[in-house]
Amino acid sequence: MELLSIVVPCWNEEAGLARFYAETAAVCAGLEAAVEFIFVDDGSRDGTLAALKELAARDGRVRWLALSRNFGKEAALFAGLEHARGDYVAVMDADLQDPPALLPELLRIVRGGGFDCAAVRRVDRKGEPPIRSWFARQFYRLINKMSRTEIVDGARDYRLMTRQMADAVLRVTEYNRFSKGIFSWVGFRTKWVETENVERAAGESKWSFFKLLVYALDGITAFSTVPLAMASVLGLVFCAVAFFAILFVIARQLIWGGSAFGWPSLVCIILFLAGIQLFCIGIVGQYLAKTYLEVKGRPVYLLRDSGGGDGHEGAD
Ligand code: UDP
Ligand code: MG
Repeated sequence: MELLSIVVPCWNEEAGLARFYAETAAVCAGLEAAVEFIFVDDGSRDGTLAALKELAARDGRVRWLALSRNFGKEAALFAGLEHARGDYVAVMDADLQDPPALLPELLRIVRGGGFDCAAVRRVDRKGEPPIRSWFARQFYRLINKMSRTEIVDGARDYRLMTRQMADAVLRVTEYNRFSKGIFSWVGFRTKWVETENVERAAGESKWSFFKLLVYALDGITAFSTVPLAMASVLGLVFCAVAFFAILFVIARQLIWGGSAFGWPSLVCIILFLAGIQLFCIGIVGQYLAKTYLEVKGRPVYLLRDSGGGDGHEGAD
């Protein structure tokens, strides 16, 4: 029988884990495939790991990985994918925002052979603060203008893919991981399944507004170099403006004479240009910082412990 691996990154999800497991396992009972769960404890500070060990003791299909600290969702996802052995691999959140009821449909789509991946996108942002939705929409508009990799608005990380595509994602070993972009970048045929927004079952979202903003900037710098080009174009435009301004000043001096005036406007112009310069240096700095992090070649995550899967503690 074919095996489906379900990869679940968890960070401080103690409150909702049992319910997540119960609901997902109930859906999996109806699947025509064997299932393994791979829970990745991303350095939780609550009882998540204990809850995972308990699940693993009850159900031999449950395996768990404990990262050495909180590496972030993207790294946890990568760790889980690396340890998944299934012919199909699904990734989902632990908070039931990714409805397990969709799993049979996702599996059917991919098994049908016409697609390598079935992914879920939400069609609304019900229950989300309006200001957050607005920023999210602007982000998707911006990144899609700037990058050739298509980033679908409302795409969740919830998806089910073939072994081949999972292996492709694993070959992208960059340190600054922006999964939505990576899933799209590797290509393959993706079918989008639409669903309504579901609110978190328990616990709180791990994303503050500031964290999301940094994540959005990470996404843009990871999948587009347009900001760098923008800096150069801006530089050229200001050179052109300065050139014509010089011509104008010389002409005025020759025709009307008189000494230079306009000190206050000069200060304004200098301040404005200094601002633009710093802004552009900042853009370059962002890319340099990313390059620096990549060049260091640090591992995406570090494992502290793992277990589960028929009680083989520390298995692979
Ligand atoms: N998560 C993680 N590490 C982190 C942050 C989040 O493993 O540093 C997990 C979290 O436990 C959840 C998933 O990533 O399973 C999505 O997080 P969350 O629900 O907070 O994000 P949201 O749904 O609000 O975008
Ligand atoms: Mg969530």
